[in-house]
Amino acid sequence: MKRSTTLYRRACLAIPGGVNSPVRAFKAVGGTPPFIKEARGAWLTDEDGNQYIDYVGSWGAMIMGHAHPEVLTAVKQTAERGLGFGASTEIETQLAEKIKAYIPSMDLLRLVNSGSEAVMSAVRLARGYTGREQIIKFDGCYHGHSDAMLVGAGSGSLTLGVPNSPGVPDSTAAATSTIGYNNAAQVDEVFEQIGDQVAAVIVEPVAGNMNFVPGNAEFLSTLRRCCDHYGTLLIFDEVMSGFRVAIGGAQSVYQIKPDLTVLGKVIGGGLPIGAFGGSKKIMQHIAPLGPVYQAGTLSGNPVAVAAGLRTLELLCADNCFDDIVRNTQTLIGGLLDCARDVGVDFYSDSMGAMFGFFLGTTQKVETLNQVRSCVTKDNGKPFKSFFHAMLDGGVYLPPSPFEACFISAAHDAEVIEQTIDVTKKALLKIKN
Ligand code: PLP
Repeated sequence: MKRSTTLYRRACLAIPGGVNSPVRAFKAVGGTPPFIKEARGAWLTDEDGNQYIDYVGSWGAMIMGHAHPEVLTAVKQTAERGLGFGASTEIETQLAEKIKAYIPSMDLLRLVNSGSEAVMSAVRLARGYTGREQIIKFDGCYHGHSDAMLVGAGSGSLTLGVPNSPGVPDSTAAATSTIGYNNAAQVDEVFEQIGDQVAAVIVEPVAGNMNFVPGNAEFLSTLRRCCDHYGTLLIFDEVMSGFRVAIGGAQSVYQIKPDLTVLGKVIGGGLPIGAFGGSKKIMQHIAPLGPVYQAGTLSGNPVAVAAGLRTLELLCADNCFDDIVRNTQTLIGGLLDCARDVGVDFYSDSMGAMFGFFLGTTQKVETLNQVRSCVTKDNGKPFKSFFHAMLDGGVYLPPSPFEACFISAAHDAEVIEQTIDVTKKALLKIKN
């Protein structure tokens, strides 16, 4: 029996489903997840010695590639001086200054330990700042697992949310409205109904949790306009898109300034982190400056901050980011060519260092309904077969068709070429 299988079975006896985050369990694709032993650059090695080109990158965090020597040095040097103090360190300010320099809408920002925590805190701040309770979010966007964010669209009503998970109180769900992504007309309609009660609108400006679906410019500018009109705060959840679709995040691409921005993933260089921030006027409401409470024992942990700071320094130097973007575009072009050669309907798109693909269509995908109808065709069999053919060929994709893919500075021309080669074989296999 494979060592990964033995380890998975053992994990299932101690950890729910054998995993510490659900998508890792391979429920969407079937089979047993490989257990990872180590990773370097673009490559993962599992416990059985199989090697894979990695397009998950710890769900977007590893933009410089795995175990980058300079990031490791920063982590080691920092760790040798102590793992954390629960008191302030210079390096936290350096990271905050670095983030501010590239995302100027974050005039003041607070570091936390995860994207979920940062979203939860930003939502509380928006409620505390505006004195309102209602939150608007969008179908297909994921903002972590806090109660207010695990709410879906209720049937028959534009404005009443329903819990997406047992354990989320109805009262919490009632304060969250979930509406259609990229549906500017519906945004106007909902604001007309409840705009004066809405504390915040939270959105992934480039959605990466329903595969890869960029927001359209009209939709995002409608959000800005409605928020301005009704005194609602616009929160851009850039946990995935920050320092990933562009150095300055999606807000720099669309030229839209949110009131609050939430970050995570890349800014921790692979270690646990999150951040939220915005204008001084709003951020001054956070404790200790203001009355909205927010705190964390491990917030701003120096080791995580050191990994993040070195990652951002490397990413923002010379042509690093431009090179990643060029490689991403080469990959997408290659994938589309393969699909055309093999005769499989295939759509793929990217922004910066993030991309997605759909089997069974050649059309742009813009809404959760379109994503669903595409990925559920034939009971989702095409994606499952493709995923396993790629894995067998040595390419590790996100194990769900609802996830985006991530590329790193270590995915060089050779790695891209190898990926395209494996893709061609996988497409031929699923076609036959
Ligand atoms: N927001 C977005 C857009 C995310 O993609 C995620 C996680 O994937 C989160 C928030 C939650 O972040 P974390 O998993 O660090 O809690």
